[in-house]
Amino acid sequence: MINKKNKWSPADKIQDLQFFGEYGGVNPSIADSSTFTYLSGKTMGDVFEGTREGCYLYSRHTNPSTSYLSKAIAEMEGMKGAIISSSGMASITNTILQICNYNDEIISSRTIYGGTYAFFKNYLPKFRINTKFVDITNIKQIENNISNKTKAIYCETISNPLLEVSDISRIAKIAKKNNLKLIVDNTFTPLIFSPAKLGADIVIHSLTKFINGSSDTVGGVVCSDENFIEDMIDVNCGSAMLLGPVMDSYKAASILKNMRTLHIRMKKHSENAYYLSKKLTSRGVKVIYPGLESHPNHKIMSQSHNKEFGYGGIFVIDTKTESNANKLMEKMQKTNLGYLAVSLGFYKTLFSAPGLSTSSEIPENERSVMGLSNGLVRISIGLDNNIERTYDSICICLQEIGIL
Ligand code: PLP
Repeated sequence: MINKKNKWSPADKIQDLQFFGEYGGVNPSIADSSTFTYLSGKTMGDVFEGTREGCYLYSRHTNPSTSYLSKAIAEMEGMKGAIISSSGMASITNTILQICNYNDEIISSRTIYGGTYAFFKNYLPKFRINTKFVDITNIKQIENNISNKTKAIYCETISNPLLEVSDISRIAKIAKKNNLKLIVDNTFTPLIFSPAKLGADIVIHSLTKFINGSSDTVGGVVCSDENFIEDMIDVNCGSAMLLGPVMDSYKAASILKNMRTLHIRMKKHSENAYYLSKKLTSRGVKVIYPGLESHPNHKIMSQSHNKEFGYGGIFVIDTKTESNANKLMEKMQKTNLGYLAVSLGFYKTLFSAPGLSTSSEIPENERSVMGLSNGLVRISIGLDNNIERTYDSICICLQEIGIL
């Protein structure tokens, strides 16, 4: 039996779930239906009206398979509810469109995933929703940008790709004081950070990355309190309901199964990233990793993360030039150290140069202000069993291009 006195861990929340299949199976049955029958027309009407709960109606709304997955992720984040969607971008866009109206403003970290940046900068102005981009590690800058139009503050726990760490507790205090929603993208750090425990109102993940962990599915989730989730699936004005970014049941069931090993995977990713960052730094290679004491936000992270899961599985090597970055990635792929591919959180190492790919939506002059050069190589380290062997191979690649 679970001892409730034990220290809270988000991993235990996943382990403690007990979902049975229709015939007592140890895996929940997959709901292979887009629609659900009713014995009476009156009951169906009540469900539509929202006066009766606990029934499934139509799979764009919810269905048992997506509900199991949303329950598991809400438990992991220590939040009351969650809604699964077909991609991380769908979760982000639906959340913002639920919160913001014409003429509202958002304050966002300037170092965020390129797709999110492009949505804020290029798409939202169609609705006169403006975004003020700030250095999220500068609390004064956040405060100074709040106006009577501001509705939300948006950041990533560890930013993509510069690995800046948001001080969520402090930002949450500012959000509360000004009656704003704090939205945190926790894609890089599932289990490592529990943003709701630090005061975030809404936590988003791209499930495509670590949570699923097998690079075979695109998905997303929004976690929040019951009211916000109900608003998002409201049949009359809910963004998730009306824009319709649903996930297929089979995919939801598959992600749920992969979540059961998330705690083991996150520990291994973090252990490997720490090992390589430390060793490469000691050889004079310029590495960005929040687990290193030299990282400017190391202290903030150490005070606010769930220590058992480490500092994350992503680190960045600064090769100085675009040509070095390309050479390094091509050599690493040839050596079978991993794949030159965007995305992250796979069993095998994935690497890309964000300036030339996932952050290319950010104009060059803005990238240079934030320190995002074309020489950066983002590495999502795999679950390599023998990390010393990986280190030796990376060193050979670095030597061949003259960095070591
Ligand atoms: N958030 C972060 C931090 C990401 O890195 C990404 C994708 O790379 C997304 C959101 C978007 O997720 P998806 O590709 O599942 O739409």
